[in-house]
Amino acid sequence: MNLYIDFGGTNFRYALEEGKLFTLKSVDIELISFLETQINLEKNIRKIYISFAGQVKNGKILSAPNIKIQNFDLGHYFYDKYNIEIFLENDLNCAAVYEYSRHKDADVLALFYIGTGFGSAFVIGGKILRGRDNIAGEIGHTPFRKKGLKCGCGRDDCMELCVSGKALKGTFEHADEATKKEFLDGLAFAFHTVLNLFNPDLFILGGAVVKNNPFILDFLKEEYNNSSFKAIRSELKISVSDIDDANIEGLKILSKG
Ligand SMILES: [Zn+2]
Repeated sequence: MNLYIDFGGTNFRYALEEGKLFTLKSVDIELISFLETQINLEKNIRKIYISFAGQVKNGKILSAPNIKIQNFDLGHYFYDKYNIEIFLENDLNCAAVYEYSRHKDADVLALFYIGTGFGSAFVIGGKILRGRDNIAGEIGHTPFRKKGLKCGCGRDDCMELCVSGKALKGTFEHADEATKKEFLDGLAFAFHTVLNLFNPDLFILGGAVVKNNPFILDFLKEEYNNSSFKAIRSELKISVSDIDDANIEGLKILSKG
């Protein structure tokens, strides 16, 4: 059977095949020992699918701005030791696979997920935009404004330092006015950048911060109405993702080939 894992900045979720989805706290997880325990408990795990909130390539974790984990070659380790294959994919790419499966008519599908961090992904002509190192589309880590703190990627001016759950340090509602303004300024800047770079026909929003703050959808609709070339833009379909576990659902689609 397959084991599906969604390793996010806050929550760690896992499910066996079509079984129940369990949620743990990411800070409590040591990934290698968690996987080894599952392999020993469930003797017939054949393949492990992991959606990971960080940068990955060919079964290797390359970088993890919001998760304390060593860069590690999971694929080789588990294949050599247990003869088990690891499928490792960036979490937003997994979500994009799910969203695209629901909207196959989209030419350019853009995704913004604001949870612990600020993730984004793009599906263009039915293909995930990957770039040379499988790190294309990371708008959350483009320089935006210098902050007196370091981003998990190492810079001190990433968009994510203003636009994310960790930037709000709690709820949007309880953040101070300067933090709220920076959040909305950053989000608008990211949104307009994507409109101009990719001219999407479908924009999906997700993540806990978006789901807890329905006004964000209206805010971006208003930004769209004030966007450059508005007169010649087709109508943009923009909505909030209809499920909470798009990453796991994306993995399940990928596991079926
Ligand atoms: Zn960063």
